Amino acid sequence: MPFEFSLSPDQEAFRDAARAFLQKEVAPIVPEMDEKEEFPKATVRRMQEEGYFGISVPEEYGGLGLGKVGYCLFLEEVGKVDASHGVIVGAHTSLGTTPLLYYGTEEQKRRWLVPAAKGEKLLAFSLTEPGSGSDSGAVHTVAEKEGDHWRITGNKIYVSNGREADAIVLMVATDVKLGPNGGVTAFLIDTNQAGFAIGRCEKKMGLHGTSTAELILDHVEAGPDRVLGEVGKGFHVAMTALDVGRVSLGAASLGGIEAATQEAVHFSKNRTQFGLPISEYEAIQFKLADMAMKAHALRFMVYHAAAHQDRMGTDPKQWGRLERADKTREAAIVKCLASEWASEVIDESLQIHGGSGYIRGTPIERAYRDARISEIFEGTNEIQRLVISRDLLTRGL
Ligand SMILES: Cc1cc2nc3c(=O)[nH]c(=O)nc-3n(C[C@H](O)[C@H](O)[C@H](O)COP(=O)(O)OP(=O)(O)OC[C@H]3O[C@@H](n4cnc5c(N)ncnc54)[C@H](O)[C@@H]3O)c2cc1C
Repeated sequence: MPFEFSLSPDQEAFRDAARAFLQKEVAPIVPEMDEKEEFPKATVRRMQEEGYFGISVPEEYGGLGLGKVGYCLFLEEVGKVDASHGVIVGAHTSLGTTPLLYYGTEEQKRRWLVPAAKGEKLLAFSLTEPGSGSDSGAVHTVAEKEGDHWRITGNKIYVSNGREADAIVLMVATDVKLGPNGGVTAFLIDTNQAGFAIGRCEKKMGLHGTSTAELILDHVEAGPDRVLGEVGKGFHVAMTALDVGRVSLGAASLGGIEAATQEAVHFSKNRTQFGLPISEYEAIQFKLADMAMKAHALRFMVYHAAAHQDRMGTDPKQWGRLERADKTREAAIVKCLASEWASEVIDESLQIHGGSGYIRGTPIERAYRDARISEIFEGTNEIQRLVISRDLLTRGL
């Protein structure tokens, strides 16, 4: 696997424009969004207008065609400003557009991917159920066959963008007995279909701008045109989307680490105790050094993994077994380390802020609440360690 990596002038220009846009248009609304616990409709609309909901989608399908590297550059910048916006973009892009781009038919791409990439439709992804979290193949929402159609019935929970989405990539059991090995199928459901309803929307510790919704499906009709990929192969579709999501979660965490580090540097230079700025004390300097080390290492890991996914392309049929295994292990490593480092760095930055870091409404207090979920969603870090260790025990380092 090649290790060299650098950004092109075009990629740098894209990142700089995105940074300016986010600082100007998104950053100012975040404190109120967090306090009111509202989905940030107006800024999401602006991001859609700018094409930021189709960064990694090829231009022929309405996207910006900037691949996973471009997408991660954007999420890193979003992560500096607000985690909620990052989750809204991520649930739509990594988890919503990836299944369509990688597994959709030409007709499905024209019908759902193009409007999603252009920002005309919002997507979500639904795997988790009350009885099926880490054991994500144990899906109990069922699709019963009626002629060449299915009727989908069941309950899904914790769906990011679930309340606002126009269409949802839904993992459903077409054969409960087979579980993930042939029994799960990916469907695409429009949220205005008969039999579809939104249930409870969770109140959360953080990510106050996102919805985390229950979906209730009561005999929702799905024809063959609603199946993404092959019947019974939905678990592969879900895991492919999650590999993309785990690397992009790493990019958003990197942005969070960078912002928390900058805030710690700024605060420590400006807070005087015992006659000196606290940045003059070694105990503080060592914390700052640890933050810089984590940001530095993570930057390489995220863009190495994103560039690897770009090189692999978007046709899973072209991937060899080893290439696929490398990608999955790498995504798990990035997700696990990025989320834990983000929690650690933000915690240390809050500590450097002293009591002021604990005051409701400060950026570091919000970041602390927002960061914790990254160790849990897109597969808990225990599950990432299982993925990594199983592959290590099979193939070695
Ligand atoms: C804010 C938010 C947004 C989310 N967004 C989405 C979304 O958009 N779409 C979606 O489908 N899901 C979403 N989820 C669900 C999320 O992915 C799950 O919560 C997560 O995968 C964990 O599942 P669980 O909550 O059922 O925990 P459980 O699986 O019940 O796990 C409980 C604990 O047991 C541990 N554990 C379980 N099995 C093992 C094992 N074999 N070995 C060691 N430890 C184990 C876990 O690591 C965890 O610590 C979201 C969740 C939240 C809170």
